[in-house]
Amino acid sequence: MLNIVIFGAPGSGKGTQSERMVEKFGLNHISTGDVLRAEIKNGTELGKTAKEFIDQGQLIPDELMIDILASVLDGFKDSKGVIFDGFPRTIAQAEELKKMLAARGQEVSIMLDLNVPEEELMKRLIKRGKDSGRADDNEETIKKRLLVYNTQTCPLIEWYKNEDKYFHIEGHGQLEEITEQIVEAISSVARS
Ligand code: ATP
Ligand code: MG
Repeated sequence: MLNIVIFGAPGSGKGTQSERMVEKFGLNHISTGDVLRAEIKNGTELGKTAKEFIDQGQLIPDELMIDILASVLDGFKDSKGVIFDGFPRTIAQAEELKKMLAARGQEVSIMLDLNVPEEELMKRLIKRGKDSGRADDNEETIKKRLLVYNTQTCPLIEWYKNEDKYFHIEGHGQLEEITEQIVEAISSVARS
């Protein structure tokens, strides 16, 4: 089983590249952001709670996020592997993911870190906000999200380096070239 963590700042292209990997390798995809947006759209209690955090550019509390992830994961039967997109975002989430996978006799195969300069992220997210109307893609909230990323999420880079799972991807450039780097990285762990 391939368990791939796709990692990077807001707007780094996690969703776009994940879709390509789903097609190429037939993996299941968990995007925690998409799960939360679906809950908001359906007006559930969870969605109401999530919206308050997302609109502030903050992370949803770990306990809540971990429960959501566990239930999505349990829904995947006979899976070839999973792409975790937007999870983990904190050390606590990474530790929990490790436990959850271990309980299933599995582990994270690789962590792909999509590197994109901050001014490019800003440009992409503002454009996405205009095109899609995503409420958290406005300049003020983007700045908060980048700060949250730099303080709460970036420590995961060292954490995954210690686990020997870290893989640097140059996330600024042609979509195809980025996909190629990712395919190569995944193929190398799939072989081993
Ligand atoms: P990208 O553009 O690369 O897909 P993103 O940061 O813009 O990344 P999402 O991953 O869709 O967007 O996340 C949107 C919001 O949902 C986050 O800002 C956060 O509030 C919440 N969220 C998503 N995943 C988590 C998580 N694992 N823990 C806590 N909050 C989360
Ligand atoms: Mg996304």
